[in-house]
Amino acid sequence: MTHQEGTALKIADQIRQNVRPFTTLDVGGAARWFVRAHGAQELAQALTWAKSHQVPVFVLGGGSNVLMADAGFDGLVLQLADHHIEIQHTDDGRCLVHAGAGVVWDELVDFAVTHDLAGLTCLSGIPGCVGAAPIQNIGAYGQDVSETIAQVHAVERATGASRTFEADECGFAYRHSHFKGRWRDQFVITAVTFALSPGQQAPLRYRDLKERFAGQDTAPLKETRQAVLEIRRSKSMVYDTADPNHRCAGSFFVNPIVAEKDAQHVVEVAQERWGQDTPVPQYPAGQGKVKLAAGWLIERSGFEKGHIAGRAGLSSRHCLALINRGGASAAEIVALARTIQAQVQQTFGVQLEPEPTWVGFESQDTA
Ligand SMILES: Cc1cc2nc3c(=O)[nH]c(=O)nc-3n(C[C@H](O)[C@H](O)[C@H](O)COP(=O)(O)OP(=O)(O)OC[C@H]3O[C@@H](n4cnc5c(N)ncnc54)[C@H](O)[C@@H]3O)c2cc1C
Repeated sequence: MTHQEGTALKIADQIRQNVRPFTTLDVGGAARWFVRAHGAQELAQALTWAKSHQVPVFVLGGGSNVLMADAGFDGLVLQLADHHIEIQHTDDGRCLVHAGAGVVWDELVDFAVTHDLAGLTCLSGIPGCVGAAPIQNIGAYGQDVSETIAQVHAVERATGASRTFEADECGFAYRHSHFKGRWRDQFVITAVTFALSPGQQAPLRYRDLKERFAGQDTAPLKETRQAVLEIRRSKSMVYDTADPNHRCAGSFFVNPIVAEKDAQHVVEVAQERWGQDTPVPQYPAGQGKVKLAAGWLIERSGFEKGHIAGRAGLSSRHCLALINRGGASAAEIVALARTIQAQVQQTFGVQLEPEPTWVGFESQDTA
């Protein structure tokens, strides 16, 4: 028996692994197969095994942006366990930090801040792993990860070939990249290289942060990290099992980017219903488009923070986070998501799109 066949047997032995505990929403069924790949060789073996057995593969990171179907996933769930971080100083004064896909995201931010490297600080407290960060171009408090990604290292699933993408090849946009779009399910991200700036301060672009550091445009990294973590905690946006809102996937819907005329319609609806002075949060999104605030649309469509829908509901601190209140099924989360989408559509004519990846459903479009 070859080593490869041995790995195939190892995978086949681990039948029906419950994935639910590996996801922050804590809903859904089991994976038919589950494997944790330590390094390039095991990853190659797992992909080869899946290909030869014609088994679909789902790559799971920290499970913080995943909605697993109650029926589970009839395929191989693959997790990467590469936890190394390397630093390289360059001649132009920058610092390249190379992190394996399995590194816990917030541990990387902590590492950068501890080494006085600017670029990731405002992304403190986002759950998940490094490998997922480029997928939706994670962002928070005025920073997107694409601002500091230099390269994304990946393995092509179909061929097993190693690929390195420069940041400008990845199609990064608001909560989007080619990995989530046209390259969907084609690559396993194995590592990411970040270009960070030694000795600089963190930018303060977001209102809540600006208020903390009144009058400043930038602040020291450690203080900024601390402030971001505190603000996030006050909104139940760090993953903490002691928090009753913790079973969630963060924001369940992305902020919709709409045509100017559709944003104007939202303003007209708001003024008609709640008076001429009703402020509608909106931000220019380029090319005649406007970004609206999904949370505001949800709240104004009649869903309050803490809304209860059986065992599902909305976070008591943040109505953009759908939560599993304890023992909810994926179907209950989906039902609430659909109710919210329908109500927002009916009230404002805006279609909300879910942010998490739906796994084991026939199509994410079922949203
Ligand atoms: C409390 C809370 C707060 C959050 N706050 C934010 C926030 O402020 N900003 C933000 O942007 N997001 C936020 N999120 C969403 C989530 O944390 C991020 O999207 C995170 O990057 C997901 O990482 P993960 O490792 O958990 O990925 P998973 O949830 O496991 O996977 C997410 C997607 O990435 C794919 N993927 C994962 N790893 C790989 C890999 N190595 N190769 C290829 N594909 C891969 C998966 O297949 C899936 O499609 C929040 C979530 C929670 C629960």
